[in-house]
Amino acid sequence: MLSIRDVAVSFAGVRALDGVSLEAHPGRILGLIGPNGSGKSTLLNVVAGVIAPEAGTVLLDGRPLPAGAPHAVAAQGVARTFQIPNLARRLTVAQNMLAGARRQPGEALATLLFRPGRAQRAEAAAVRAAFDMLDRLGLAHLADHPAGSLSGGQQKLLSMGMAMMADPRLILLDEPAAGVNPVLVAHQVVFLKAMAAEGRTVMLIEHNMEMVADVCDEVVVLDAGAVIARGSPAEIRRDARVMRSYLGE
Ligand code: ADP
Ligand code: MG
Repeated sequence: MLSIRDVAVSFAGVRALDGVSLEAHPGRILGLIGPNGSGKSTLLNVVAGVIAPEAGTVLLDGRPLPAGAPHAVAAQGVARTFQIPNLARRLTVAQNMLAGARRQPGEALATLLFRPGRAQRAEAAAVRAAFDMLDRLGLAHLADHPAGSLSGGQQKLLSMGMAMMADPRLILLDEPAAGVNPVLVAHQVVFLKAMAAEGRTVMLIEHNMEMVADVCDEVVVLDAGAVIARGSPAEIRRDARVMRSYLGE
């Protein structure tokens, strides 16, 4: 379980997060919504270890995640996607997927030198996992294409797949559906539901309320760096305060 407790962040004296607490559970998809500048990406960056909060803690399964140490957080089984996918554009789709694998078989020289069979098996397993994931994302037919030749929506799907190659316990997504055509959003929805069904915890920042209502078990609403509401998607849609602050209605 992910537990965020009393997290506060300021940028140059301006409060971006003002004591945010929330929980996310394995096998469930938590939506994080709120107007632009409400602190959603900042919160995700705190969990991912990109930003060290000035106050508060983040616990994963009861243990604090290292603050401000993204690689150490990733090693704890936390994966994230970015608003703008970070791909190696000239490498193929399959090569990008393999770059996302948790343990690079070639990394441990000792294994390569003294246990070459094991290194080969690990590499073969990573390749199988990559193609299996591409299949689930509907990208298998593009495996040999340069990542840079994919559409923006396909690149976002690919970056989801890359994040999954590390077999994470917790997946953090920042606006995966933004600017993506509805057919590919439907792929994302199926994929995220499958990831949750495997028992992973998913935290999804998204403006697309249709997608949020479709995939999220629970929604937390941020406004000006504070949680103003939480509940099921249906409850959130009925919340007058949320409608005023978020949708300006
Ligand atoms: P959201 O993702 O909800 O749109 P952000 O978390 O990106 O909101 O931003 C929250 C607030 O923090 C905004 O006022 C934004 O301008 C500010 N902010 C975010 N990142 C930085 C940064 N690196 N430096 C200065 N201010 C920032
Ligand atoms: Mg943002």
